[in-house]
Formats: sequence, C-alpha cells, structure tokens
Amino acid sequence: MKYAEIIIDITNEKLDKIFHYSIPYHIKKDICIGMRVFVPFGKGNRIREGYVIGFTDTTDIDEKYIKDIYNLPDKYTVFSENMIELAKFMSNKYYCSLSESLQCIMPKIKNDKTDKYVYINYENPNIKELIDKILIKNNSQSKILQFLLKNDNVSVYELKNILGISLSPIQTLEKHNIIKITIKQIKRNTINLENYNKTKHLTLSEQQSNALNFIKQKINEKSTKPILLHGVTGSGKTEIYLQLIDDILKNGKQAIVLVPEISLTPQTVERFIGRFGEKVSVTHSRLSDGERFDQWKRAKDQEISIMVGARSAIFTPFENLGIIIIDEEHEATYKSESTPKYNVKEIAEKICNLTGATLVLGSATPSIDTYYKTQNNQYDLVCMDNRINQDMPQINVIDMRKELEKGNKSIFSIPLFEAIKENLEKNMQTILFLNRRGHSTFVSCRKCGYVMECKNCNVSYTYHLKDNKLICHYCNNTESVPHTCPACNSKYIKYFGVGTQKIEEQIKKYFKNARVMRMDMDTTSKKNSHQNILDDFKNHKADILIGTQMIAKGLDFPKVSLVGVIAADITLNTGDYKSAENTFQLLTQVAGRAGRSNYKGKVFIQTYNPDHYSINFAKNNDYVGFYEKEILERKIMFYPPFSNIFFIMICGEDEQKVINSINFLHKVMTYYNQKTNFYLSDVAKAYIYKVNKQYRYKIIIKAEDETRLKNFVLYCVNILKNKVDIKNLNIILSLNPNYIQ
Ligand code: ADP
Ligand code: ZN
Ligand code: ZN
Repeated sequence: MKYAEIIIDITNEKLDKIFHYSIPYHIKKDICIGMRVFVPFGKGNRIREGYVIGFTDTTDIDEKYIKDIYNLPDKYTVFSENMIELAKFMSNKYYCSLSESLQCIMPKIKNDKTDKYVYINYENPNIKELIDKILIKNNSQSKILQFLLKNDNVSVYELKNILGISLSPIQTLEKHNIIKITIKQIKRNTINLENYNKTKHLTLSEQQSNALNFIKQKINEKSTKPILLHGVTGSGKTEIYLQLIDDILKNGKQAIVLVPEISLTPQTVERFIGRFGEKVSVTHSRLSDGERFDQWKRAKDQEISIMVGARSAIFTPFENLGIIIIDEEHEATYKSESTPKYNVKEIAEKICNLTGATLVLGSATPSIDTYYKTQNNQYDLVCMDNRINQDMPQINVIDMRKELEKGNKSIFSIPLFEAIKENLEKNMQTILFLNRRGHSTFVSCRKCGYVMECKNCNVSYTYHLKDNKLICHYCNNTESVPHTCPACNSKYIKYFGVGTQKIEEQIKKYFKNARVMRMDMDTTSKKNSHQNILDDFKNHKADILIGTQMIAKGLDFPKVSLVGVIAADITLNTGDYKSAENTFQLLTQVAGRAGRSNYKGKVFIQTYNPDHYSINFAKNNDYVGFYEKEILERKIMFYPPFSNIFFIMICGEDEQKVINSINFLHKVMTYYNQKTNFYLSDVAKAYIYKVNKQYRYKIIIKAEDETRLKNFVLYCVNILKNKVDIKNLNIILSLNPNYIQ
C-alpha cells in the first residue's frame, strides 16, 4: 500500500473525488481505512480534513506532485469498511456523490472529551504587535498563531493533534493574553433513567412464542432473508422485539430499533428503556449535533448495545450488529425526502448483507411492497392474527350521504354522537381522528363563489379560529379574514370544510362537561408538548382526544374504548396511486387504538364512499383481502412493485422558463425512449402547481428495471443541464417517491 485514497472535506461537494496521498513513516503503522486524516490541500497547502477510503499501489499522478498526509487526529476509525461499502452503494443507488453519502452516514464530528476552543484575543489592544513578534520566531507558538489566523473554531485537542505540539505553548500564549480559551460543555446522556420504571419479561402468549421461536430459528440458521412480522394491532409485537434483543445481547451482539418518529412514539421508546436501562441510547433529529455525536461515539465505544431512533439511527456504528428491527415498517417517514433520498429499508437490507445481522420488519398493515416480497419468497413471513386480549374492536362504517338524507347536517353522524355520549357516561376515553388541522378548510364568498387563496401558492387558505386568521398550510403565509369579498364586495363570507379546531368547538358545544384535548401541528409546536398531551391523556386528565395522524400511531391507552374517524375520504382523494393503501393503513391503525385492554372497543368510520374496498377491508380487519385486491390494481396499472416510478419536477418563479426547460427535457426523453420504450407521461402541472411563488411542472416515467430507468433519466437530465440555461430553476428527481405531487 503505497498511497492512501482520500475523500477531502466531505461537506464540500466540489471536491467529490478521490485524491491520492503518500503515507509518511510516522503514521504508517496506525493508518487504516475509515480514519480521519488532516492533509495539505491546494496551492497554499491549507490543512483540510479528509477520510481514508482505500489504499492503492498505483496512481496516474506524477510522483513528485503527491503530498504526504499530515496527521491522524483520531485514534479510531470513523467509518468501518462496511460503512464505506455502504456509502458506495448509496451513491450508486440514490444518484448522489460519495461525499453526500459519507456525510449522511456520519454525524458531524464534535471533538470528544475536551471541548475547549482556542481564539486569538483580539480584545487585547497590543495584539498585532504581539503576534508579529511571535511570528518571526520559528517555534510552536508561531505555528499555533499561523494556524489560528487561517482557521476558526479550533479546539485545543485539534491544535495539539494537527500541529503535533504539547499543551505548554498554548498555555504560554494564553498567559500572555494573546489567545483565549473557552470551554463548551457537552451533555452526555440524552435519557434520564430515573423517569423510567424497570420492567421484566412478560410470559408470552402461545402465538407470541411461536413467532419468537420462528425468528430465533431463522437467526440460528443464519438465514439471510429479512423477516416480516405481521401482527394485528395489540398483538404484542413490542414484547417480541424486546425478547429477541435480549437474546441478541446475550450473544454479545448489538441491536438497532427504528421507529417512525421519536416524538410520536414515546410509549415504544419507554418500553425499550424500561427493559434495558442504561444499555439503550436514543437518537433523533431534535438533538444537537454534539448530543448526536456523543450517542454515535457511545455506540462505537461499546458503552451501549441498543440504539432506538428514527431513520438516521440506522447508521449507528456497532461493532457486532446482530439485529435491525423496523417497527411500523409501512410508514412513509422511512424514506428520506432530501438528498440522498434513501429508503431506510433498503439500507437496512444492505447492512444486514454486509454484516450478517438479521432484519425484522414489523407492522399490522405492511406496505404492499413488503408483503409482495413475502409472497415472492424474498422475505420470510410470520403472522399474529389475534390480540393479546383476544378481542378486535367492532368497526362500523357510517354512510354520511344517508345522514344528510335524514336531515343531519352536523359533523357527527347520529351513531357516533350517541356513542360519544354513552362513552362519556361510562367514564371511558374517546379518540376522534381527522386528518386535517385548522378550523375550516376554505373560506369563500357565498354570492360570487370567490375562494380566499394564498398569493404565493395555488391553494386555498385554511381558517384558524384561535388567532382568527387565514393560514396557508404550504408556505405558512398568514392573512386576516376580510369583512367583505375582495371580488364582489358582498358581506357573505362563509366558512366551509372541517378541521380539528372545528371538531373541538363542536364537541365543547354539545358536551359541555367533557374535558377535551387537541393534538395537531398547532398544539405541538413547543418542546415536550407531544409528551405532555399524551401523558395527560394517559392519566385521564381528558375524556376526548381530537387529533390528526399524530394520534393514529402506536398509542396504547387502556381506557380508550371508542374511536371516531370523522372523514375517511380525505386520504382517499389525493390522486396518488398509494391512496387506497394509505387509507387502509390509517383506518386500521386508528381503529387499533380502541379496546386494547379489558374494555371492548368500538370504532365509527364516517365516509361518503362506504363501498370503497380500502374502507371495507379495514372494517373487516382483512389485510390479506386488501392486499390481494390492491396488488391486482397495481399490476394492471403497472405501478410498484411491478414497476419503478421516476418523478421529475422542475420548479421556478419564472413560469415560462420552467415550461421551456421541462418541454426540452420531455423532447429529449421522447427521442431516447424510442429505443427503451418506457412508459413516459406528458408534461403536466404538479398536483399543487404553485407553492411559495414557485411554478411546478412534472414528468412521470415508469419502467421495470430500476437501474436502466435511473440511467435513462440521469442521462437525459444531464443533456438538459448542458444545453439549456437552468439558472434559478430547481430540478427535483425522485425515484419511487412517497407521494406523486
Ligand atoms: P402491538 O405493537 O402489536 O400493537 P403491543 O406490543 O403494544 O402491541 O401490545 C399490546 C398490549 O399488550 C400492551 O399493553 C402490552 O404491554 C400488552 N402485552 C403484550 N404482550 C403481553 C403478554 N405476553 N402478556 C400480557 N400483556 C402483554
Ligand atoms: Zn364575492
Ligand atoms: Zn402559501
């Protein structure tokens, strides 16, 4: 190994290529793949950070231009060889640079232990003279000052490592008031263990033991297939995860557990901490960079064995990973919407291939894609069809058209209204679900039909009662409600449509004594507000909880015996090919909040489409029936899993420019598609075609082969970029996105 292959400064996209450096004698015995290095770079030989991603004996560059690596700042490897493999896989699969992949895998490095930062003391009036005096000397002090003049945010630790000096010249400079040292403290642990009750293994039900044994046996056989645990809501999947992990730990291995969103699943997180205590760490996007880095380092240093977290926890650097569990695997949050647009299930599968760990996916409503793989023998399947308490909730579908015929114009159907009343009398709790926040979904003039629309977006404003304001849910623009119609001056301004605020208002009107809480984006903007609302509801400080999809997931409240879905149609009419799947999942999940312990659960689903198959299969609790119907639709329509969809959107303030460039791209694609014969859509306006003053146009293209499709699109987009002025335009490329916009 003559040269090290180095990626420089992973935050700088322009430097995304491999550079060769020679390895000086003093680091030869320590250097390995995945280590951070400091290297001289460019004409001025500025010291920059880089990562060793490989070694080679040959190079195209003239030997005399090859520089030496300066130093190794850490004693450990930052990326394991597997992680570097993973980064290469990601760059290829998600059409991004290697730097972007490495950056995504690695939290921002914060120097551990000594977080003392060094600055030149510009407050000292004689600083210039003092610096000049030292700079002409050739000693460590002068090296320090030279370095500090070129770099800021340098820690004592870095200074010592990069310059290879001791602490004493730093201290001398400080004593003479030439530099200042400030200490920044880092919080180490993000969990306060005192808040959690310790739990022990539960005695498993028969169906739980069977499922657990099935998975354990697959692990023993060293099976490489991922396993889907399909268990109805309340079947006790979490207990299986806990006992599986216990086994993994006993074998000296570690576990990663992914949950859709930490703030919305506090109960699941609690169960892991309750069982495994200080062996667990939790990581999520609300932590600071330093806190996140510390959790990463604790895993690397083997201080913890279980990482629970949202998407990014998949990159936890465990030495000897035994299992990855993805709970609620059907959730859309498992696919990243920003570059690299990775799907965490694909990443997990790759990690398991590289490390030999086992992948377990769990859900009551598996995604169509995942279930299809079990039918195709790519994944193993294990089912739990019964609840721990044996009792599935009774689901009633209410035809709202008939309610109207009977003269009931209110938001609540008669059966739901009666059930709420009865439940209150029994002192039980109720959850009311509506997938739409605000008070009224639009405001319009009764005389001329004018609808108040956001001036930045082509969407109608939502009326919010509390601040008496019109708010745009796409750009957050706010306006006061006009007293007269801006178009015809009439006074007949009317509010239409229902949001969670309106439900709250109505409930308070009809049930004066009921204690009501609301959980949606408007009530949860403050830190800890999610947790506080859920804690209060758990402690029965409220009788009725009204909320958006935030309350649909994972909650386990024993006293909830009634769930009402106010309008099941919202997710049905989104124009997306996944709308039936999303509706089925959401209804089944919300319904699953009812009757989870000793009380029988009742569910009412209000809809104008009572015959829609996603609603009917949800009512009958028939996942497999739903799957069989849906997979046929997908096949006929050539949608995933039978095809891959590439979604291309071009956005910009100059609409004509957007149209010209997307038309150009479409022409290029049509030309090359004569050979490939993919399904290519026409150019169309996006579902919401103006957001934040940006006009948005789209092309959709479908093909069976992912790689060929991707290469085709990237090739055509490259032609666009080279031939057309795309300044100020945003080109969005998304393979198999969560939603087609
Ligand atoms: P799921 O995740 O499948 O919806 P949970 O894991 O939340 O289900 O379990 C539902 C409820 O049953 C929880 O309150 C849980 O504590 C309880 N439970 C699970 N397994 C057992 C068991 N073996 N014995 C008693 N209670 C259990
Ligand atoms: Zn009007
Ligand atoms: Zn707007």
